Amino acid sequence: MDTEEFRKWSKAAADWSADYRATIAELPVRSQLAPGDVLKRLPQNPPTHGEDFANIFADFKKMVPDGITHWQHPRFFAYFPSNASLPSVIAEQLIAALSPQCMLWQTSPVATEMEMRMLEWLAQMCGLPADWHGSIQDSASNATLAAVLTARETALDWTGHRDGLANKPQLRFYTSIHCHSSANKAIWLAGIGEVNLVVVPCRDDGSMDPAALRTAIASDRAAGYLPTGLFAIVGSTSIGISDDLRAIGEICRTEKLYAHVDAAWAGSATLCPEHRHLLDGLELFDSYVFNPHKWLGTNFDLSAHYVREPEKLQRTLATHPAYLKTQHASSMPDFSNWSLPLGRRFRALKLWFVIRCYGIEGLQTIIRNHINWAQQAAAEFAAQPDFELVAGPNLALFVFRHTPAGLPAAQLNTHNAAMLDAINAAGFTYLTQTDVDGTYALRFQVGHTDTTLEHVLDSVKHIIKLAKQVTDS
Ligand SMILES: *Cc1c(COP(=O)(O)O)cnc(C)c1O
Repeated sequence: MDTEEFRKWSKAAADWSADYRATIAELPVRSQLAPGDVLKRLPQNPPTHGEDFANIFADFKKMVPDGITHWQHPRFFAYFPSNASLPSVIAEQLIAALSPQCMLWQTSPVATEMEMRMLEWLAQMCGLPADWHGSIQDSASNATLAAVLTARETALDWTGHRDGLANKPQLRFYTSIHCHSSANKAIWLAGIGEVNLVVVPCRDDGSMDPAALRTAIASDRAAGYLPTGLFAIVGSTSIGISDDLRAIGEICRTEKLYAHVDAAWAGSATLCPEHRHLLDGLELFDSYVFNPHKWLGTNFDLSAHYVREPEKLQRTLATHPAYLKTQHASSMPDFSNWSLPLGRRFRALKLWFVIRCYGIEGLQTIIRNHINWAQQAAAEFAAQPDFELVAGPNLALFVFRHTPAGLPAAQLNTHNAAMLDAINAAGFTYLTQTDVDGTYALRFQVGHTDTTLEHVLDSVKHIIKLAKQVTDS
């Protein structure tokens, strides 16, 4: 493809993208394809000769959109959001054209320095500790893994990298039942072993019980284990529970645990001062992650990872092969030393476009609307005689279920699973499920950048109507 053809087709792609986003609300939210449908459409063998791009683009239009679950649909209320506001999509187009590999400062100074400044902006916007240092990770999962590795090596005085973990003290990490599965995975990958992830009991509000944490650490020390790290949660994935960071953080400081806060979804809400209390005590922790790619308009992937002591993170993750040495020592960071993969995309441009395009006030308004509308939707369900709230609303997330009169309690879980199937097969809106102490419940989160109150309330009405049909059938 030459640059003139590229000009033509990238304009066609931009036009297609604008039409797609303008009409997305008419599409079924969850892809209605069956397993294998896409495979049937794709030839078994790759082409021997290059094809005309016009054919390729025509096939894209024919074969791809109905296989997409439309995460950018304004009636997408499943999982957590995966925002891709239009300015961030434009940034992504430009990043693809530039396609720098930004592992070192010198491999693209603007990527490193814009990343520094954008993470300073985010820290100001969310009231994070002013002396912390941020970098962009590809995902919260990898930021959490980086935190576990840093915790491990800090506890072992960086001898784990050299010697492996055999003949070392047994390291212990602490969390609650509400932590995300990425913490468990990080524990596996770091060689800690899941038996050493201690699940501390919670208080009635679902937050980790500080007294129980103290007890768990003391009994581990008495048994010869080495208490090493902790995961706290702000905005749990299932129901939006948050830990009391100050109470937990004080224990971590006294006990010298390396403590990490996962606020992948809820972190964006702290853009609004009225939600900053969620991070009260954060300065007592060592590491913090939240995902602008969830709820801050910035398309996947972009996780903001902050650490109190960047030297520890770098000492854990930096490598120094001859082929990566730079001629002149730079006063600027080489961010590949802060993250797991060597290669890094130019992600900061997305934040630069989004934050400037919406401004702090614009982003605050979006978040406040989502939270307000989720509360209205929850109230609508709660007001129905045959629906009940199971948890929340916590920020813009609540969990509910259908409890039709006369249906035996033992059948409610299967009934609500059938409800979920009916909702998602209808395609008008999209929800996912969770389990709350054995109760099968439906999750509803409001988080798409362009969702309106009407999208939310139309979906509530639709679900209430469908529930009657499912019950009568
Ligand atoms: C979504 C989520 C994650 C995982 O985020 P990735 O960026 O996809 O790795 C981790 N923790 C919580 C609480 C989440 O909600």
